[in-house]
Order: sequence, then C-alpha cells, then structure tokens
Amino acid sequence: FEGYRSQHNDALGPTKGGIRFHPDVTLDEIKALSMWMTFKCGVVGLPYGGGKGGVIADPRKYSQAEKERMSRGFIEAIADFIGPDKDIPAPDVYTNAQVMGWMMDSYSKLRGVYSPAVITGKPLSIGGSKGRSEATARGCVITIQQALKELDRPVENATVAIQGFGNAGRVAARLLSGLGCKIVAISDSQGGIYDPKGLNVDEVIVCKNEEGCIHNYPNAETQISSEELLELDVDVLIPAALENVITIQNVNQVRAKVIAEAANGPCTPEADKVLTEKGTLVIPDILANAGGVTVSYFEWIQNLTHFYWTEKEVNERLYEKMVTAYEEVRRISEQYKVDRRTGAFMVSLLRIAEAMEARGWV
Ligand code: GLU
Repeated sequence: FEGYRSQHNDALGPTKGGIRFHPDVTLDEIKALSMWMTFKCGVVGLPYGGGKGGVIADPRKYSQAEKERMSRGFIEAIADFIGPDKDIPAPDVYTNAQVMGWMMDSYSKLRGVYSPAVITGKPLSIGGSKGRSEATARGCVITIQQALKELDRPVENATVAIQGFGNAGRVAARLLSGLGCKIVAISDSQGGIYDPKGLNVDEVIVCKNEEGCIHNYPNAETQISSEELLELDVDVLIPAALENVITIQNVNQVRAKVIAEAANGPCTPEADKVLTEKGTLVIPDILANAGGVTVSYFEWIQNLTHFYWTEKEVNERLYEKMVTAYEEVRRISEQYKVDRRTGAFMVSLLRIAEAMEARGWV
C-alpha cells in the first residue's frame, strides 16, 4: 500500500489530524487536508497545528485481520514522525476507534511505553474520551442551532437533508431529530431516500447497520440520488461525505437556507462565491466540523493527565468552545463584511500569525 502523512504549520503546537483509508487518496489531497487542520485548530483556539494522513486503499474490501495489518503497518512506517508532543493522528474517512486502538498499540510496542496520547479517537477502554465518537456531529449541530437562532428560525420542525451516513451524518441525524427537526432526506455512497413528512432516523440507522446501505429502506416516500438531495428546498443541508460535491454545475439548484459543512471541503471555491451572493448561510467546514478535533484535544489532555472526564463535562466544554468560535467568526465576518468562511480563516490566521511572530518566525 501507499500512504502519506503530512504536517502543515506547527506554530500553535504539535500537528493534529486524522488518517483516512480511501481508494482516491492522493498526496495533494492529504497535504491540502493538513492545511485545513491548521486552520480548523486555529478557529476553535486549540494548541495544535495541522496534520493529516491517508492510505490508498478501500477498507470495505478487506477482512478485519487485513485491516489490522494495514493499520499497524502504516503506523510502524510513520512512527518516527508522530508522537504525543509531535503529531497526533485520529480517525477520518473509513477509519474508526478500532483502527486507532491497533495504531496506539503498535506505537506503544515500538516505543516500549504505553502511549495513549499519541493518537485520539481510541476505544474507551484504552484511553478514549467519552463523547468523542459523537463529537463531530454534536459540534456541527451546535453551529446549526446558532445559525437558526441568528436567522430567527425555530429548530423545531426545521427541515434537514443529510448527504453521507457515516459517523458524522448518522449522529447528526439522530441529534437533530431529537431536537425536533424533520430529517427529510438522507443518502450514502450508494443512494438515498426522501420523505417530506420526515424520516424515522432510528429505523434508517438499523437499516444501514443491517444492510450496509439505506436506499432500500422501505418506509420512505421515494428513493433519491445523492446529487438530487443537494438540491432539495430545505432549511438545513448537511454535506457529510466527501469534498467537492457542491460545484459550479449544481450550485444554482441548491436551495437550502443554511449549509453546515460536516465534511471537509464540500463546496468548491466557485460554488462558494455563488452561495455567498445568494445569501446562503454557509457554516464553513473548519468551524462546522471542528467538534471532532476539539474532543480529540480533550482526549489528549485526559491521556496526559490520566484523569478522565464525565460525558457531561466533555459535552459542556465542547458546547462552550463551539459557541465561542461561532460568535467570534460571526463578529469578525460582520465587522469586515465578509462571508463566514473568510471570517473563520481570519480568526484562525490571526492566532497562527501571532504565534509565528511570538516564536520569531516572521
Ligand atoms: N478527522 C477529523 C477532522 O478532520 C478529526 C481530527 C482529529 O480529531 O484530530 O477534523
């Protein structure tokens, strides 16, 4: 297998970011995503720089034992470049807590010391944090609540379409329907479903778990493609799959009032410009999905101090971080009359630049 680990800017602290397993991984993509992590950590004010890793592989085709060997092989290959004070990986597309567990184990064996803080998103039994697996979605939901409040729209009965039914999409669907939103459409890599009356999220999750896909879920009004889902007239659209799905080709058909980018980079820069002109409130990825890395930071602190927090403590601290970051981005965007993505970059870049200056780099 071929794999990569990229470290972008480490002015604010050790680099941090996930490892993905995907057949389309490229070096350029991983480098771009590591830069994304620098800005993401900056916007929520975490003491981290940006990193990212990826292996060109389709784990859906491998047995558990094959995935384990691949995970251990990758971490052995990059072991010299990572470490609790150097570069701290985490889960990303098609990797999960189990993969992190194998990786932490391999790293600890190689070093000869138990090193839970080298990687986050681990199983709870070996230093994982409560609330980590839900954190990306929970953070995203907090930003959606803030956005709806800003637009004076009630959360109750707000209509939501979700593209992508992996960890982020699934948990966001569950949390939002718990808040009274109507989840009208969901899709995964094989297709989607639509029901204007609202889908029963728990049933759809059972279907996904049992069949590995959702398009055959029987109680929806119709099937829908993942592309059609993006064009639905909904209050909130959550692209929670991969990058570059809202493009100049389909952006004029996108009708959502709020777009919360749970995935990294779902809107192309050209599409983004059109959305800004249309007045769509786009909550940019580096803010909308920063909940994951925020609770990774909490996990790392717990590992370093060997003192573990309750789920309530984790969620309260996450809420505070997300609301503060949302407000900071809103304030700077309004002050400089820029869209939220630019505002988020500004908040982040100010912190990074200050750190670089303080370290005498510039
Ligand atoms: N892969 C996630 C992201 O893109 C989480 C990274 C982390 O927890 O370090 O934000």
